[in-house]
Amino acid sequence: MADPVASKSSFLCMYMSNHPDTLVAYVKHWGKVADDVSGAKMTSIDTNGMNLTYKTKAGGPEKEVRVQFDPPLLGYEEVKPRLISMKVDAEEALGMARAPQITTFRLPLSIWVTTSLVASLLYVTYAPQPHTPNFSPAFIPANYLRANLPGYVVPAAWWTIVLVHPLEAAYALYLSVRHRMPFTIGLCYVLGTLVWGFPILNELRHQRQAARIESVLKAMDALKQARILEIARQLSAGEGRTVEQLIASNDPLKGAEAGRLRQWFSSHHMTPATDLKDDFGRAVFFGLLDVLQEDIIGQTQKHVQRGAPDPRAATVRDIYAMRWGPTQVPVFNLILLSMLMLPSMRAQHFAVARFLITDMKVPVDGTDLSGAQALYHAISTKPAFEPEYAQLLHDVGGDVNAQNWYGDSAAAEIAMLHGYDEEAMRGARDALAWFFAHGGNVDVRNNDGVSARWVMSNSHQQMMQHLGVTRALKKVPLWDVVLEEDKRRKALGIKACAFCGRGQGGGAKPLLLCSRCKNTAYCAPPRKCQREDWKQHKERCKPCKPERSSTYLGVSLDNES
Ligand SMILES: [Zn+2]
Ligand SMILES: [Zn+2]
Repeated sequence: MADPVASKSSFLCMYMSNHPDTLVAYVKHWGKVADDVSGAKMTSIDTNGMNLTYKTKAGGPEKEVRVQFDPPLLGYEEVKPRLISMKVDAEEALGMARAPQITTFRLPLSIWVTTSLVASLLYVTYAPQPHTPNFSPAFIPANYLRANLPGYVVPAAWWTIVLVHPLEAAYALYLSVRHRMPFTIGLCYVLGTLVWGFPILNELRHQRQAARIESVLKAMDALKQARILEIARQLSAGEGRTVEQLIASNDPLKGAEAGRLRQWFSSHHMTPATDLKDDFGRAVFFGLLDVLQEDIIGQTQKHVQRGAPDPRAATVRDIYAMRWGPTQVPVFNLILLSMLMLPSMRAQHFAVARFLITDMKVPVDGTDLSGAQALYHAISTKPAFEPEYAQLLHDVGGDVNAQNWYGDSAAAEIAMLHGYDEEAMRGARDALAWFFAHGGNVDVRNNDGVSARWVMSNSHQQMMQHLGVTRALKKVPLWDVVLEEDKRRKALGIKACAFCGRGQGGGAKPLLLCSRCKNTAYCAPPRKCQREDWKQHKERCKPCKPERSSTYLGVSLDNES
């Protein structure tokens, strides 16, 4: 089997040539070259290692060094994370990398905890005794506590503050130097810790996390661009012009090309470092549930201060209205993109999604610039089929038949296969089966009057020509799925909804018959199946025939078939 990394070697070498400093760090640290290296190039890479050539400041011919991957890479997907971690290790070891700079200070809300603790300690310690001149009834609880608490409690509390806060402040001082804080910011952290202790240190911890994320994002974006180029190359293997050509051209776009460009923009055009400037967006992207929750508390607090009648509902509205990036993706679309970009953090992304869906009850039907919802992207296979996430969205009312601004449903996107790659087809087949199983309808027409069924039947015919009839029978998964579903729904007749195919039972409300033709059943409200189907149905819907057909001079008046 061909080496999956070696086959993309020239692309990766070209990409890495934009990062000369990283290559020098690889040569010096991993290649163990002690000379003063002035420049380096990657000449090849495979799963076991990479070959680098370098020049020294002393001059002389180019030399070569091989850096082994330990352990070897498992596949192409691993190139990106491994190269980043090797870069971080090398730069730290060489003293090239510095801790990220922190330039922000803000008082966290939680200082009221320490403030009230210290206040009550002062109160208990210094309240005047009864029968002294300054005594008032307000000091009775303090005297009661003083008399009844074990003797060591108050002194122990004071010692904790006196000993612990300076230690914490010393640690804050150390961090302020390490993270190159401006003088006043560092002073704020040190003095703040001396007074309030832990809450300020905790805030510092959040700022460090934010600063690290910032630096990781910067490293990642460069690699993401390489990934985008790679996807562009794969896409361009399909028919029509490539994505780059499409982006460069000014022609009005039609058919598959329009679809491709549309999809391209809605799924890939997101650059985390520049598009996710806010804490909330970053917390979502990195699956940081605790940061997200803290941000939500902060937002709600602001609504409380402004006197909003229902601060929590106001926060939910804010979250629902948030959009990121040039295609204006809403929060649940952002979670889907994050899952695809950082696959190793899937569990954290699901935790964030569940929190926003179940605890915050943020509606899942927000749309991006193309009018597509998160569920649409999760099942359209572009960018990827994510059944688990789709289920989560569906269970809280995500509409499987939702259309984008072009009137296309997810099925229409599934139908637009590029090329005849077997794995892509399997993904499309699974996604279409999911679509049907969750009430999907392929007869809904888009703004050009084209239905997903039409697209699939057309590409089925194309594929028959392309592959030959015998092979086609095994290799036309999409059309098979449609035929199977047609058969299933036909067999159920009026025992299934004519639009979504859901049958009776399972605690659902009984189906209702079309009151005009009385031979078509639909889900009961609040489902909108009848309304959604009307455009298609009205062509077939004839008023119900009377019991005995009318005749005139023995000739039937019902002339339809
Ligand atoms: Zn229905
Ligand atoms: Zn009807």
